[in-house]
Amino acid sequence: MTMTQNLAETTTHDNATPDSVPVPGALMPHLSECALLLDIDGTLLDMAPTPREVWVPPELATALGRLLQRTNGALALVSGRSLNDIDLIFAPMQFPAVGGHGAEMRLSPDNESVASHAPPLDKELKRRLAAIAKLSPGILLEDKGYSLALHYRLAPHAEKAIYDAVSAIRADLPNAPIEVLPGKFVCEIKHSGFTKATGVIELMTQEPFKGRRPVFLGDDVTDETVFAIMPGMNGLAFSVGRRAQGVAGHFDEPRDVRAWLAQLVADEKSATE
Ligand SMILES: [Mg+2]
Repeated sequence: MTMTQNLAETTTHDNATPDSVPVPGALMPHLSECALLLDIDGTLLDMAPTPREVWVPPELATALGRLLQRTNGALALVSGRSLNDIDLIFAPMQFPAVGGHGAEMRLSPDNESVASHAPPLDKELKRRLAAIAKLSPGILLEDKGYSLALHYRLAPHAEKAIYDAVSAIRADLPNAPIEVLPGKFVCEIKHSGFTKATGVIELMTQEPFKGRRPVFLGDDVTDETVFAIMPGMNGLAFSVGRRAQGVAGHFDEPRDVRAWLAQLVADEKSATE
Protein backbone atom coordinates (compact mmCIF):
# COMPACT_ATOMS: atom_id res chain seq x y z
CA MET A 1 0.00 0.00 0.00
CA THR A 2 1.38 3.39 -0.90
CA MET A 3 1.51 6.29 1.53
CA THR A 4 -1.01 8.20 -0.59
CA GLN A 5 -3.57 5.43 -0.38
CA ASN A 6 -2.88 5.07 3.27
CA LEU A 7 -3.46 8.75 3.95
CA ALA A 8 -6.60 8.87 1.83
CA GLU A 9 -8.15 5.92 3.61
CA THR A 10 -7.58 7.25 7.06
CA THR A 11 -8.58 10.84 6.43
CA THR A 12 -11.68 11.35 8.51
CA HIS A 13 -12.20 15.07 8.13
CA ASP A 14 -12.65 15.43 4.39
CA ASN A 15 -15.18 12.74 3.64
CA ALA A 16 -18.26 14.96 3.48
CA THR A 17 -17.01 17.85 1.39
CA PRO A 18 -19.97 19.48 -0.35
CA ASP A 19 -19.70 21.89 -3.27
CA SER A 20 -17.89 25.05 -2.39
CA VAL A 21 -20.12 28.00 -1.59
CA PRO A 22 -18.55 31.21 -2.84
CA VAL A 23 -18.32 33.91 -0.21
CA PRO A 24 -20.96 36.50 -1.04
CA GLY A 25 -19.29 39.90 -1.30
CA ALA A 26 -22.33 41.63 0.18
CA LEU A 27 -21.94 39.58 3.33
CA MET A 28 -18.48 40.91 4.10
CA PRO A 29 -18.22 44.00 6.25
CA HIS A 30 -16.00 46.78 4.93
CA LEU A 31 -12.38 46.21 5.94
CA SER A 32 -12.46 49.35 8.05
CA GLU A 33 -15.18 47.71 10.19
CA CYS A 34 -14.00 44.15 10.49
CA ALA A 35 -11.37 42.14 12.31
CA LEU A 36 -9.90 39.39 10.15
CA LEU A 37 -9.09 36.31 12.26
CA LEU A 38 -7.33 33.56 10.37
CA ASP A 39 -6.31 30.05 11.30
CA ILE A 40 -3.01 29.05 9.66
CA ASP A 41 -2.60 25.35 8.90
CA GLY A 42 -5.21 23.98 6.53
CA THR A 43 -6.78 27.45 6.20
CA LEU A 44 -4.10 29.82 4.87
CA LEU A 45 -1.48 27.17 4.21
CA ASP A 46 -1.63 23.74 2.61
CA MET A 47 -0.94 20.93 5.05
CA ALA A 48 2.57 19.45 4.84
CA PRO A 49 3.96 16.03 5.87
CA THR A 50 5.37 17.61 9.04
CA PRO A 51 4.53 20.96 10.71
CA ARG A 52 8.00 22.33 9.90
CA GLU A 53 7.56 21.81 6.18
CA VAL A 54 4.71 24.23 5.53
CA TRP A 55 5.36 26.93 2.97
CA VAL A 56 4.09 30.50 2.95
CA PRO A 57 3.59 31.70 -0.63
CA PRO A 58 5.11 35.22 -0.94
CA GLU A 59 1.82 36.54 -2.40
CA LEU A 60 0.03 35.44 0.76
CA ALA A 61 2.47 37.28 3.02
CA THR A 62 2.04 40.38 0.86
CA ALA A 63 -1.75 40.16 0.96
CA LEU A 64 -1.77 39.70 4.75
CA GLY A 65 0.52 42.71 5.15
CA ARG A 66 -1.83 44.87 3.04
CA LEU A 67 -4.91 43.62 4.89
CA LEU A 68 -3.22 44.40 8.22
CA GLN A 69 -2.87 47.99 7.01
CA ARG A 70 -6.38 48.20 5.53
CA THR A 71 -7.94 46.96 8.77
CA ASN A 72 -5.82 49.40 10.79
CA GLY A 73 -4.08 46.50 12.49
CA ALA A 74 -7.17 44.36 13.10
CA LEU A 75 -5.89 41.18 11.48
CA ALA A 76 -4.75 38.29 13.65
CA LEU A 77 -3.54 34.77 13.06
CA VAL A 78 -5.33 32.30 15.35
CA SER A 79 -3.42 29.08 15.67
CA GLY A 80 -2.46 26.07 17.76
CA ARG A 81 1.14 26.96 16.99
CA SER A 82 3.15 29.01 19.44
CA LEU A 83 3.81 32.68 18.63
CA ASN A 84 7.45 31.81 18.23
CA ASP A 85 6.63 29.18 15.66
CA ILE A 86 4.21 31.47 13.82
CA ASP A 87 6.93 34.11 13.52
CA LEU A 88 9.41 31.56 12.16
CA ILE A 89 6.95 30.50 9.45
CA PHE A 90 6.06 34.03 8.36
CA ALA A 91 9.53 35.58 8.87
CA PRO A 92 10.49 38.30 8.33
CA MET A 93 6.88 39.45 8.73
CA GLN A 94 5.12 39.49 12.08
CA PHE A 95 1.40 39.63 12.68
CA PRO A 96 -0.90 40.06 15.66
CA ALA A 97 -1.76 36.55 16.81
CA VAL A 98 -3.52 34.23 19.21
CA GLY A 99 -1.11 31.31 19.62
CA GLY A 100 -1.10 27.96 21.38
CA HIS A 101 -4.90 27.51 21.17
CA GLY A 102 -5.41 30.67 23.21
CA ALA A 103 -2.41 30.28 25.51
CA GLU A 104 -0.62 33.30 24.06
CA MET A 105 -1.65 36.56 22.46
CA ARG A 106 0.03 39.46 20.73
CA LEU A 107 -2.06 42.49 19.82
CA SER A 108 0.28 44.14 17.34
CA PRO A 109 3.31 43.04 15.32
CA ASP A 110 5.78 45.04 17.41
CA ASN A 111 4.33 44.15 20.82
CA GLU A 112 5.93 41.70 23.20
CA SER A 113 3.93 38.51 23.32
CA VAL A 114 1.60 38.02 26.24
CA ALA A 115 1.41 34.49 27.58
CA SER A 116 -1.34 34.88 30.11
CA HIS A 117 -3.00 31.48 30.15
CA ALA A 118 -0.15 29.07 29.78
CA PRO A 119 0.68 27.02 32.84
CA PRO A 120 3.28 24.46 31.74
CA LEU A 121 2.15 20.86 31.54
CA ASP A 122 3.17 18.68 34.47
CA LYS A 123 6.62 17.13 33.82
CA GLU A 124 5.68 13.60 34.76
CA LEU A 125 2.54 13.77 32.63
CA LYS A 126 4.60 15.06 29.74
CA ARG A 127 7.09 12.25 30.14
CA ARG A 128 4.33 9.65 29.98
CA LEU A 129 2.68 11.26 26.98
CA ALA A 130 6.01 11.60 25.21
CA ALA A 131 6.55 7.85 25.50
CA ILE A 132 3.54 7.35 23.18
CA ALA A 133 5.75 8.48 20.30
CA LYS A 134 7.62 5.20 20.69
CA LEU A 135 4.55 3.24 19.53
CA SER A 136 5.56 3.61 15.90
CA PRO A 137 8.21 5.17 13.68
CA GLY A 138 6.78 8.29 12.07
CA ILE A 139 5.03 9.64 15.18
CA LEU A 140 6.52 13.09 15.74
CA LEU A 141 6.54 14.61 19.17
CA GLU A 142 6.24 18.37 19.51
CA ASP A 143 6.70 19.97 22.92
CA LYS A 144 5.06 23.40 22.99
CA GLY A 145 5.63 23.86 26.71
CA TYR A 146 1.97 24.36 27.63
CA SER A 147 0.93 21.50 25.38
CA LEU A 148 2.28 18.42 23.75
CA ALA A 149 1.41 17.32 20.23
CA LEU A 150 1.73 13.87 18.72
CA HIS A 151 1.79 14.20 14.93
CA TYR A 152 1.07 11.01 13.00
CA ARG A 153 0.70 12.15 9.40
CA LEU A 154 3.65 9.89 8.61
CA ALA A 155 2.18 7.02 10.64
CA PRO A 156 -1.60 7.21 10.08
CA HIS A 157 -2.05 3.53 11.04
CA ALA A 158 -1.04 4.48 14.61
CA GLU A 159 -4.05 6.76 15.18
CA LYS A 160 -6.08 4.36 17.32
CA ALA A 161 -3.08 3.19 19.34
CA ILE A 162 -2.19 6.83 20.10
CA TYR A 163 -5.68 7.76 21.29
CA ASP A 164 -5.95 4.51 23.30
CA ALA A 165 -2.66 5.28 25.03
CA VAL A 166 -3.73 8.86 25.78
CA SER A 167 -7.06 7.60 27.19
CA ALA A 168 -5.23 5.14 29.44
CA ILE A 169 -3.06 7.92 30.85
CA ARG A 170 -6.08 10.14 31.42
CA ALA A 171 -7.91 7.32 33.19
CA ASP A 172 -4.90 7.10 35.50
CA LEU A 173 -5.08 10.84 36.23
CA PRO A 174 -8.81 11.66 36.33
CA ASN A 175 -8.23 15.00 38.07
CA ALA A 176 -5.49 16.35 35.82
CA PRO A 177 -6.65 19.67 34.29
CA ILE A 178 -5.92 18.58 30.75
CA GLU A 179 -7.85 18.20 27.56
CA VAL A 180 -7.22 16.26 24.39
CA LEU A 181 -7.54 18.09 21.07
CA PRO A 182 -7.99 15.86 18.06
CA GLY A 183 -6.78 17.46 14.83
CA LYS A 184 -5.77 16.50 11.34
CA PHE A 185 -3.24 13.72 11.97
CA VAL A 186 -2.39 15.25 15.32
CA CYS A 187 -3.42 14.48 18.87
CA GLU A 188 -2.64 17.38 21.15
CA ILE A 189 -2.81 17.41 24.93
CA LYS A 190 -3.05 20.78 26.61
CA HIS A 191 -4.16 22.42 29.81
CA SER A 192 -7.89 22.93 29.97
CA GLY A 193 -9.12 26.45 30.70
CA PHE A 194 -8.24 28.15 27.45
CA THR A 195 -9.23 27.54 23.85
CA LYS A 196 -9.03 29.38 20.56
CA ALA A 197 -12.46 30.77 21.46
CA THR A 198 -11.35 32.22 24.82
CA GLY A 199 -8.34 33.70 23.01
CA VAL A 200 -10.56 35.31 20.37
CA ILE A 201 -12.99 36.65 22.98
CA GLU A 202 -10.11 38.28 24.85
CA LEU A 203 -8.53 39.61 21.67
CA MET A 204 -11.82 41.24 20.67
CA THR A 205 -11.91 43.26 23.91
CA GLN A 206 -8.62 44.96 22.97
CA GLU A 207 -7.75 47.74 20.55
CA PRO A 208 -7.61 47.77 17.59
CA PHE A 209 -9.98 44.76 17.48
CA LYS A 210 -12.55 46.11 19.92
CA GLY A 211 -15.87 47.17 18.38
CA ARG A 212 -15.20 45.53 15.04
CA ARG A 213 -17.05 42.63 13.43
CA PRO A 214 -14.91 39.50 13.65
CA VAL A 215 -14.58 37.42 10.48
CA PHE A 216 -13.03 34.06 11.32
CA LEU A 217 -11.75 31.38 8.94
CA GLY A 218 -10.75 27.93 10.16
CA ASP A 219 -10.66 24.32 9.05
CA ASP A 220 -10.27 21.97 11.99
CA VAL A 221 -12.05 20.60 15.04
CA THR A 222 -10.43 23.18 17.35
CA ASP A 223 -11.83 25.98 15.16
CA GLU A 224 -15.38 24.89 15.92
CA THR A 225 -15.20 26.62 19.31
CA VAL A 226 -14.67 29.88 17.42
CA PHE A 227 -17.34 29.16 14.80
CA ALA A 228 -19.75 28.76 17.70
CA ILE A 229 -19.11 32.20 19.25
CA MET A 230 -19.19 34.23 16.01
CA PRO A 231 -22.98 34.81 15.88
CA GLY A 232 -22.97 36.16 19.45
CA MET A 233 -20.21 38.60 18.51
CA ASN A 234 -22.05 39.78 15.40
CA GLY A 235 -19.30 38.00 13.49
CA LEU A 236 -19.00 35.71 10.51
CA ALA A 237 -17.39 32.28 10.30
CA PHE A 238 -16.16 30.46 7.21
CA SER A 239 -14.88 26.90 7.20
CA VAL A 240 -12.28 25.48 4.87
CA GLY A 241 -12.43 21.99 3.35
CA ARG A 242 -15.82 21.08 4.75
CA ARG A 243 -18.98 22.88 5.69
CA ALA A 244 -19.01 23.18 9.46
CA GLN A 245 -22.21 23.83 11.37
CA GLY A 246 -23.35 27.42 11.60
CA VAL A 247 -20.83 28.95 9.20
CA ALA A 248 -21.76 31.64 6.66
CA GLY A 249 -19.93 29.83 3.86
CA HIS A 250 -16.96 27.66 3.12
CA PHE A 251 -13.90 27.35 0.93
CA ASP A 252 -12.77 24.09 -0.65
CA GLU A 253 -9.05 24.55 -0.13
CA PRO A 254 -6.48 26.93 1.36
CA ARG A 255 -5.66 28.20 -2.12
CA ASP A 256 -9.26 29.40 -2.45
CA VAL A 257 -8.80 31.31 0.80
CA ARG A 258 -5.58 32.86 -0.52
CA ALA A 259 -7.31 33.89 -3.75
CA TRP A 260 -10.16 35.45 -1.74
CA LEU A 261 -7.75 37.43 0.45
CA ALA A 262 -5.94 38.69 -2.67
CA GLN A 263 -9.33 39.70 -4.07
CA LEU A 264 -10.17 41.61 -0.87
CA VAL A 265 -6.96 43.60 -1.33
CA ALA A 266 -7.74 44.23 -4.99
CA ASP A 267 -11.36 45.26 -4.30
CA GLU A 268 -10.30 47.66 -1.60
CA LYS A 269 -7.71 49.17 -3.90
CA SER A 270 -10.15 49.79 -6.73
CA ALA A 271 -12.74 51.18 -4.29
CA THR A 272 -10.28 53.78 -2.99
CA GLU A 273 -8.94 54.81 -6.37
MG1 LIG B 1 -6.11 24.62 10.89
